[in-house]
Amino acid sequence: MNPTKPGNTKPGNSRARGPLAGARRVVVKVGSALLVDPRSGRLNRAWLETLVEDLLRLRRRGQQLVLVSSGAIALGRRHLGLAAGALRLEESQAAAAVGQIRLAHAYKELLEAHEVTVAQVLLTLEDSEQRTRYLNARATLEALLALGAIPVINENDTVATAEIRYGDNDRLAARVAQMTSADCLVLLSDVDGLYTADPNRHGDARFIDQVAQITPEIEAMAGGSASNMGSGGMATKIAAARIAVGAGCHMCIAPGRHSHPLKRIESGARCTWFVPASTPVAARKQWIAGTLRPAGALHIDDGAMRALLAGKSLLPAGVTGALGRFESGDTVSVMDKDGREVARGIAGYSDAETARILGRQSGEIEALLGYRGREELIHRDDLVILRHE
Ligand code: GLU
Repeated sequence: MNPTKPGNTKPGNSRARGPLAGARRVVVKVGSALLVDPRSGRLNRAWLETLVEDLLRLRRRGQQLVLVSSGAIALGRRHLGLAAGALRLEESQAAAAVGQIRLAHAYKELLEAHEVTVAQVLLTLEDSEQRTRYLNARATLEALLALGAIPVINENDTVATAEIRYGDNDRLAARVAQMTSADCLVLLSDVDGLYTADPNRHGDARFIDQVAQITPEIEAMAGGSASNMGSGGMATKIAAARIAVGAGCHMCIAPGRHSHPLKRIESGARCTWFVPASTPVAARKQWIAGTLRPAGALHIDDGAMRALLAGKSLLPAGVTGALGRFESGDTVSVMDKDGREVARGIAGYSDAETARILGRQSGEIEALLGYRGREELIHRDDLVILRHE
């Protein structure tokens, strides 16, 4: 049993304690410029130790963590004798292969010293853009978090091509926050937040500490400024913020140069917060309710209807029929006895699987399908009630 496995205690009210301290699930993105010393090309280990201490503190409070770490290319290039300056695609792919193993090793060493299990997850753009792959990646991350591990994620740079890649970990981290329904995303980098203009060129540039809405003016402020190590500039951070707040997740752009960067955010150090209009669950439910054309429909009995109204999941036992062609992950309508659409949700099984398990007890699923799937046809987090009587 992992002694520091999170999830049993509930983080407190976010309003009283700030979005980072109050979050249930936090994604932290660490930029290359922080992790790797630009002169030596070596890992900034002393700094990383202070970040790990911060992460452990969050975990002890019961918060779940996902790390998105850059640094593979910056770390690997020295070992291949690659000169300073821009790399060709195949050179950066090679550098990433060499650097990623070192990066993962550093996290493993530092976190496992505290009996925290680290899991390396390398994602490609298709993993967030193609639905079945998105669902697979999401299920894996959920399983890792439920088992108490910390996923350490990077782009799979060795197979990413020039056209098909994120290229920057800001947007990757935002996709991960969305995928895991995180409520807080922290982008740690070598910039301290958003200014009305580039502060290096405009002495009168003002710092912005909170953004409630990403307007064209905010986007214009981002310009194209980039640090010389990683790939992300302010523009990719604003793009990340769009994804995060759209998913109901708070995001902050914070300076990471100092030791204990997360503690500093909680103590009110300067950073820019992007505030979402809703919560991750509400944003997800809104998206489900807004599906234009559900792929199919499930007819349910009165008992299941009562269960749904009481906030429970839809189990196969309460389903009397299935219509349409759908895969697991598609949105389907839920119809009551009178044929009225009463709810919508994301199907956990395809139409063919549903046909085999409907009306049966969840305990029979394995015998009926030949494999052990989930218990519910639609999980309550993936279900939105449309009418109440
Ligand atoms: N995936 C790249 C790396 O690990 C970094 C991308 C970025 O700089 O955001 O080196």
